[in-house]
Amino acid sequence: MAAIIDGKAISAQIREEIKEEVCSFVSKHGKAPSLTVVIVGEDPASQVYVRNKARACAQVGIVSDVIRLPADSDEDELLSLIKRLNEDSGVNGILVQLPLPDGFDEKKVICAIDPKKDVDAFGYENVGRILTGDYDFLPCTPAGVMELLRRSGIEVRGKDCVVVGRSNIVGKPMAALLLHENGTVTVCHSKTADLPSHTRRADILVAALGRPGFIKADMIKDGAVLIDVGINRREDGTLTGDVDFDGCFEKASAITPVPGGVGPMTITMLLKNTLKAAEKQI
Ligand code: NDP
Repeated sequence: MAAIIDGKAISAQIREEIKEEVCSFVSKHGKAPSLTVVIVGEDPASQVYVRNKARACAQVGIVSDVIRLPADSDEDELLSLIKRLNEDSGVNGILVQLPLPDGFDEKKVICAIDPKKDVDAFGYENVGRILTGDYDFLPCTPAGVMELLRRSGIEVRGKDCVVVGRSNIVGKPMAALLLHENGTVTVCHSKTADLPSHTRRADILVAALGRPGFIKADMIKDGAVLIDVGINRREDGTLTGDVDFDGCFEKASAITPVPGGVGPMTITMLLKNTLKAAEKQI
């Protein structure tokens, strides 16, 4: 039977730690770290994410601002806004909420953010630094996974780690972080031949593919640690992960639930990155 890795509880504990660090930052420097989130358009899921980020900032004493641009704004307008925020010493972290509406070049926009303020760590400079292991910021979701493993006492060193999914924001950086911790890493994707032959070897399996309940009990080995990054909305509006939780529960040694596993860690890592950005900019 699997131990449940409680991302909500671990996240709450880390937020308490961040709150204390923010408090000492304020007493030392006379101002709080600050995050500016830019959202373009009205995507409802993005609106919720942005609201949650602002609420989490307030909880730990980070000052946050949300700048909303209409969906029909042009890219130059967004790029000049980013330039202004880059130059504003009162802004420590900048985050452009993705996805951007059609017509925007996301790579160009993300790379326009000053790498020292790029708290999502999606810009090319930060991506390169993550690969070489010489980084200030880690992308929030993979960093959250590593923190969950660490705080649950799960050793990565020497383990067979299999990541299903190779996106730039989750799968690829996830693989890099597991590698930095001395895991032996396999990355699978939609063109992988005989996927179960890979997943069945995993001591630590990270599912980040966006397919509800895709990882079944017959695809894992006895005692595997299952990290479910997937967030999929069922027809009734509730959330479910990429792992068949009930089916895998007996066979795994540890498992993250959805919701309440990786999800809460993502915003927590954003808070951590914002604090770090502020400290680096002193
Ligand atoms: P993407 O759609 O960008 O990437 C999905 C990846 O999964 C691709 O690499 C794709 O392969 C691979 N894949 C898809 N189908 C299969 C399959 N049948 N077999 C093997 N591999 C497959 O998604 P993201 O990485 O952005 O997100 C993944 C999931 O994580 C989503 O559910 C998302 O909502 C969730 N998520 C959760 C976060 C959190 O805070 N917990 C944060 C970010 C994302 P290929 O490259 O070949 O197409």
